[in-house]
Amino acid sequence: MSDNTSMLLKANLKQLRLPTMSAEFAKLAREAADGNEPYDQYLLRLSELEVATRSANALKARIKRADFPVLKDFDTYDFSAIPKLNKQKILELARGEWIEKNFNCCLIGSPGTGKTHLAIALGLAACQQGRRVRFFSAAALVNHLEEAQKQYQLERFLTQLDKTDLLICDELGYLSFSRAGAELLFQVFADRYERASLLITSNLAFSDWQQVFQGERMTAALLDRLTHRCHIFEMNGESYRFRESVKAARKGKSS
Ligand code: ADP
Ligand code: MG
Repeated sequence: MSDNTSMLLKANLKQLRLPTMSAEFAKLAREAADGNEPYDQYLLRLSELEVATRSANALKARIKRADFPVLKDFDTYDFSAIPKLNKQKILELARGEWIEKNFNCCLIGSPGTGKTHLAIALGLAACQQGRRVRFFSAAALVNHLEEAQKQYQLERFLTQLDKTDLLICDELGYLSFSRAGAELLFQVFADRYERASLLITSNLAFSDWQQVFQGERMTAALLDRLTHRCHIFEMNGESYRFRESVKAARKGKSS
């Protein structure tokens, strides 16, 4: 390829915003010439590189936007720790059809049983399927809502949340909210009803949610919406963290 052709091609690919093709065309052209590769095959391979980089970058951006506290997946989750948990069902949810159907998911159970772990793994799987996800702890979400309201940015923030396919609200119940905070959270949850998915983890049984959402009426109205079309998993058991540290301590003693 002449220097001139190469320069013009680079300029065109830049204008067309095809940076991977621009970076790779010369190398692939040499390979194609050496291997007598047909023109269309060459173009196909080159465009495939662009598509692959683009989708990898988009995935990275979706994961960043989701703002997971750490990354966790199903491979590192030991399902045998909570024998009552339906592994098959969880892995089915990992395929993401429930989000397509605007279903909700609740993971309810004692601390350390992997609720946050599974919430992140489900969120990450959704990102991999091209869905928009946002992760918040319940406390951070309420904080964010209250701050946004103070700064007259509430509508803007609600619109952002509205654009997500899956909103994860982790650790509902560890802290109770002010009446105003609870009402804002209620508004977010109610807004999503039958329109977009929510994934909630909580250490509180539904019967105790009044503690968070002060007032029987609001709690009943919320639970009614949330649990209609919802996959509910009970995750009660010994804390995985605690079990692992006991195991580690025992090993230490015996060695
Ligand atoms: P929860 O949200 O229910 O309190 P976490 O998801 O925060 O529990 O779990 C606490 C720690 O233990 C995390 O590091 C998590 O990855 C790990 N963990 C919990 N359950 C399991 C499990 N069954 N298999 C592997 N790791 C687990
Ligand atoms: Mg947790």
